[in-house]
Amino acid sequence: MGYNILMPELPEAETICRSLKPEIKGRVITGIKLLWPPLLRETQASALDHWLGARLIDIRRRGKMILLDIDDQETMLIHLKMTGQLFLVSVKEPVDKHTRLILRLDEGQWELRFRDPRKFGYIKIFKTFEESQTPPLNELGPEPLTLSASDFVNLFRKFKGKIKSLLLRQNFIAGLGNIYTDEILHQAKINPERLSNSLSNQELIRLYWAMIKILNRAIEYRGTSVRDYRDGRREAGDFQNHLRVYGREGERCFRCHGLILRKKIGGRSAFFCPQCQPALV
Ligand SMILES: [Zn+2]
Repeated sequence: MGYNILMPELPEAETICRSLKPEIKGRVITGIKLLWPPLLRETQASALDHWLGARLIDIRRRGKMILLDIDDQETMLIHLKMTGQLFLVSVKEPVDKHTRLILRLDEGQWELRFRDPRKFGYIKIFKTFEESQTPPLNELGPEPLTLSASDFVNLFRKFKGKIKSLLLRQNFIAGLGNIYTDEILHQAKINPERLSNSLSNQELIRLYWAMIKILNRAIEYRGTSVRDYRDGRREAGDFQNHLRVYGREGERCFRCHGLILRKKIGGRSAFFCPQCQPALV
């Protein structure tokens, strides 16, 4: 499915964190290999020295990004971008040419590796207490899964635009990308080109619950693997088998049997069912 810019979204980043957390929490970093120095963004290579001997105390997610915390009160932001993968393997596993960073753990039987064929991903190290001032974290909107329905509706007072484009904006709400915005809008029966200020309160509430439902289901199915995405154990997700509109141009809608369309909206492909998601109500 080579449709567009595809990158892991909230459910994929969340699945990676959940799959790695029990495996890496509490472990000590006993070796660091930076195989591709441009991976570091706004971070000196010497910042990694600090990480040698440190203990990993958490792995978390913010939007589509992954955050690794060490006991020395520093955090590593890992942005997977399009093709980044973060996984734990045995040191015996050969290191392939796309591996960019290796963190060896404990006695050295296991390694956390960051692999990224397209090299768009990056990492950044900062003081954990400076997280809220650190770009791009300081520009992120709220987390959809901890936002209340009324706070979600209130977001629309400050922001306006076509609903598909708005949901993609990370400063509006964090973690949604091309796949889940399409799935959420189909679930909510809202046309992706509707202007946000044309949506009634009832529609916004429907959109909110659709967002919660789709994201939770996608996490339950451990993300969508249409391309490179794998979890922390390098296993594929399963939500690609549950997509209702994304990548289904010309196929029948499961709900109304209408034809799924694909249209460019704000430079991004949107898949939708014009029958279930009419342009104007
Ligand atoms: Zn339909």
